[in-house]
Amino acid sequence: MPTALVTGAAGFIGSSLSETLLERGYRVRGADNITTGHRSNLQSLEDRDEFEFYEVDIRDEPAMNDLAEGVDYVFHQAAVPSVPRSVDDPITTTDANCTGTATVLDAARRANVDTVVVASSSSVYGSSTGLPKVESMTPNPESPYALSKYYTEKLAIQFSDLYDIDTVALRYFNVFGPGQDPNGEYAAVIPKFIQLMTDGNCPVIYGDGEQSRDFTFIDNVVEANIQAAEGSATGVAVNIGCGGQVTVNELVDHINSILDTEIDPAYDDPRPGDVRHSHADLELAREEIEYEPKVDFQEGLERTVRYFENI
Ligand code: NAD
Repeated sequence: MPTALVTGAAGFIGSSLSETLLERGYRVRGADNITTGHRSNLQSLEDRDEFEFYEVDIRDEPAMNDLAEGVDYVFHQAAVPSVPRSVDDPITTTDANCTGTATVLDAARRANVDTVVVASSSSVYGSSTGLPKVESMTPNPESPYALSKYYTEKLAIQFSDLYDIDTVALRYFNVFGPGQDPNGEYAAVIPKFIQLMTDGNCPVIYGDGEQSRDFTFIDNVVEANIQAAEGSATGVAVNIGCGGQVTVNELVDHINSILDTEIDPAYDDPRPGDVRHSHADLELAREEIEYEPKVDFQEGLERTVRYFENI
């Protein structure tokens, strides 16, 4: 039975990944300091004998060294995960995401972990021209968050060159799905809009709404992590998207059509640091980790709306 360490296990992606790892017969250690994540995400996990949770900061070196002992795979999801938050508070983001990543990677190589999969982000591309985004493009991080994610993947790749450890960085493109936090100033657009519109309220779009994203359903991201860990790829960063492009205006239309409502959005000023368009090329992910998105945007959105209607 393989043992996995999942950092950020109380978060949206980390908790969903932990669930699937347990279903696949893994023993899972979850680590989180419960800042942007929630204890409620751990409820069903903590009922399982093969799951252990540690409330810990990933910058705590002795604690991370202990947690990495006897681990086969590390899935490093913990981070302060928001572009606007990083613009408001660059120090917290840089510290958690950069020092935190260095601490996790170092603990992993000291413990002779087989593979570390790190969460990077499509934001590393910034507004570099050309779509879809291909990994050979020069990154252009335009916020402290994007820069911290670029650091995360570069350090992971460097570890595979310097030490006897495999590392893969996954550049997630706007992940969404059941369990994502709809609340707070820094909430992601899909859960936030679904919650507002389910309650009959109008969503606020920053900018003209013609900015586009390659919204990616959570199950695709979970699968990508497991394939990256169990496969033989190392020293690479690959895109994990759905391979499509949906504008924020279209997103509102889709939610209206699933909910059978006709709610018009309101518009406000664009936010600094936000990129205009995002769309993933998936060739390298196919080649390196045999990634193929199994759940498309429309199906994922329907499942997510149903989830929010039922909580
Ligand atoms: P999330 O906020 O739900 O999860 C992040 C978790 O990390 C939280 O539970 C938080 O409490 C924990 N955490 C933060 N700082 C920590 C620290 N210093 N020590 C221990 N735990 C800490 O966010 P998410 O959407 O699940 O994101 C997971 C990862 O995916 C992040 O690395 C994020 O940058 C990356 N990512 C997410 C998206 C997306 O669309 N959700 C897109 C690109 C990249």
